[in-house]
Formats: sequence, C-alpha cells, structure tokens
Amino acid sequence: MSKPKILILGGGYGGIMSAVRLQKELGSDEAEITLVNKHNYHYQTTWLHENAAGTLHHDKTRIMIDNIIDMNKVNFVQDTVKEIKKDEKLVILDNQELTYDYLIIALGSDPETFGIQGLKENAFSIRSINSVRKIREHIDYSFARYNNEGQPDELITIVVGGAGFTGIEFVGELADRVPELCREYDIPREKVRIVNIEAAPTVLPGFDEELVEYAINNLERRGVEFLVSTPIKECNEDGVILANGEEIKASTIVWTGGVRGNHLVEEAGFETMRGRVKVDKDLRMPGFDYIFVAGDCALIIDEEANRPYPPTAQIAIQQAYTIGRNIKALMNGGKLEEFKPDIKGTVASLGKGEAIGKVGNKKLFGATASAMKKVIDNRYLFLLGGVPMVIKKGKLKLF
Ligand code: FAD
Repeated sequence: MSKPKILILGGGYGGIMSAVRLQKELGSDEAEITLVNKHNYHYQTTWLHENAAGTLHHDKTRIMIDNIIDMNKVNFVQDTVKEIKKDEKLVILDNQELTYDYLIIALGSDPETFGIQGLKENAFSIRSINSVRKIREHIDYSFARYNNEGQPDELITIVVGGAGFTGIEFVGELADRVPELCREYDIPREKVRIVNIEAAPTVLPGFDEELVEYAINNLERRGVEFLVSTPIKECNEDGVILANGEEIKASTIVWTGGVRGNHLVEEAGFETMRGRVKVDKDLRMPGFDYIFVAGDCALIIDEEANRPYPPTAQIAIQQAYTIGRNIKALMNGGKLEEFKPDIKGTVASLGKGEAIGKVGNKKLFGATASAMKKVIDNRYLFLLGGVPMVIKKGKLKLF
C-alpha cells in the first residue's frame, strides 16, 4: 500500500517547524513528507529588520534547509508555488506539479498596502532575504551619492511607514546604523532624518503605555522622528504625501504598515479575511478535512479580547506542533486536539542592547528586555536544531 503523502508549502516558521515535528512524530515508513520552499534556506523573518538596516549580516539570519531537516525523512523541493488546486488535491509549482493526501499551507504573508496609491511600486518592504538585501544596499548607495550629487536632503531621509512592531524594530536598528553610515560617508548626523509615520494615534498600538513611552523616548533621543495620527495618502518616486497635504521627500521609503495572508490562499478560492483563513479549532481549513493552515495565512480569534491574534512567529511555531500531532491522529484514526496559543510574552527590540517587552505580567525595559529577546531567539533555534544550532546561529552574547 502506498504511503500517505503530506505536502508542506512554505519553509518559514510554520512550515519548517511542521516538517521538523512530522519527521519526529512519524516513522519514514508511515508517510511521504515533502516540503516546498522558494529558497534552499529557511530565514528568521523576525531578524530581517536587522539585515535591512545593515546591523546584522543576512547569512546569520538564514539557515540552509538541509541543516535543519533529515533529508532521508523529508523530500525537499526548492520551487515556487504558483497555484493551489483545492478540489483536485494538486499544487502547481513553477517546475512541476505535486499531489497530496494532507496539505499544510504555511506560505507567510504579503504586505497590506490599504490601497495607498504608489506604495506597492515605490516603497520597500521587509519580507525576505532578497528584499532586505535591496534595502541595505539602497540606503548605503543613497548615502554614498549624497556628497557626489550636491547634498540633496532626500538622499539621507529615510521614511518608515507604520509604527507597529516591525516599524519600531526597524527604526531602532536604523538609529544604530545611521551614525556608522555618517562616519563612513562624511555626513553630519544631524542632517539625516529617520521619520516613522503612523496613521493610528500612537506608536505600537495595543502595547502597554509605559512601554510605549519608554520606546518613544529612547528612539527620539537617538534621532527618530515620529508622526502619529498621520496617514500616508500617496507614495511616489520622490517620497510620500501625507493626508494633511504635507510632502516628505525621501529616497528611501520602507513600508511596515501591515500584512495580509499570502495571495495564493485567496486565489485558490478559500474564504479569507485579509488573505487569512479563519481556521477550525484544530487548525484545519473549514470544509477541507485534509488541509491545515499555519502561521500568517491562518486567522485565529483571541476569545477573551474578541479579536484576531496578531500574526506572530510565536503562534506559527506552536501551530506546527499541533498540526504535527493532528496529522498523526488523522492518519491513525485518533482524536484531533484544539489549538490553544500559549502567549509567553512579547518583546520588541529597539536596537543594540535596548528593547521593551512584557513576559507574563512583568514589564521589561532596556538591557534586560534585550537579553530576553535573545533568549527567545535562541530558544527557537534550540527547538529547530538543538544545542548545535544555537551555537552555530544563536545570539550568544546576551548583554
Ligand atoms: P514566514 O516565516 O514568512 O515563512 C513563509 C515561507 O514561505 C518563506 O520561507 C517564504 O520564502 C515561503 N514562500 C512564500 N511564498 C512562496 C511560494 N509561492 N512558493 C514557495 N515558498 C514560498 N513575530 C514574533 O512572534 N516575534 C517577533 O519578535 C517578531 N518580529 C518580527 C520582525 C519583523 C521585521 C517581521 C517582518 C515580522 C516579525 N514577526 C515577529 C512576525 C513573524 O515573523 C511572522 O508572524 C512569521 O514569520 C510567520 O511565519 P510563517 O511561517 O507564516 O511565514
């Protein structure tokens, strides 16, 4: 009898962890597991803002997939998913087609531009190793051009759209990187602008007020300007135009204002909210008993707060554990478990040695929060590949 085929789409937090868990849960004679990913490496999306700012090399952020999964137990296919044909149990890749008995969709997110004119065409976004390489190079080159091209202010003005988690973490890294760039390209620091623009009345909406105040004070002291309650109306080649009509000329615009589920999910004809599937409690796609959804493509409701959980790596990783066990249960006729996120806390980095966060009921600031952030990062690496992975890729200097 042929073995059931389990197909995993996407090798980010949700996908790679599903592969790791399934190779542990199932013997190689029990199922044929295939992981499809665009690249032959997994990257930690949560570190990409550091690569974009140029404070951490992207090789630190990516891990070759054959260093994580057991290639004897999991077939790895490096290819790009083009289409999910839900009724035919078929997935079309650039170079081949794959069938499955069980499917895990973990294709991550796309930027949400809220229909802002010109944003897609003219702003960078922090979403992959390739995208952050471009941002780092672009900032470097803009600074290099400044003294060659008559010192136009826009070359050393960086606009970051969105002051949520990603935006704040990114401006924190920029505040560290800009002084280095100024030294390298002979530019006075006070000439450079880092402008973080947010439509909501506060930065880090939903975060504890005291932590937000700490973040704002810290970042302003390090040269970040905040414009809150300020929607961006348009983005063009020269910069951004705000809803109040003001124009900010900038050669670098990075949009961090939100994400939606990967477009392939919506295009497959599944019902979505901003591209995310409101999954059943056992993480299955409603109406499709053999399809699971993990990470940013999945929408789950925080019943206490009566709103969706924000998409996070923390949840994607935990979902992979549940999906691993639930596929095993499905195959063996067992009972499927409900997914219950165990939110251990949230820590946002503000740059080198600086962060804010809440772990349990405890608020953390500065160096302590920053050390906690590294512990969280190292814990993930441990789950992925044990102590050797932590030694190889971890952030070992906590303070
Ligand atoms: P991803 O990790 O994005 O993985 C998706 C994978 O699918 C990628 O490998 C991609 O290459 C692959 N893929 C996409 N399309 C295709 C295709 N067509 N064909 C083949 N492969 C494809 N969360 C936290 O919990 N804590 C944090 O501190 C935190 N910090 C963040 C900082 C930044 C700068 C950003 C951008 C996000 C942060 N997040 C954080 C959110 C977190 O990174 C995401 O929620 C998480 O990555 C979601 O995991 P995922 O598996 O759904 O998607």
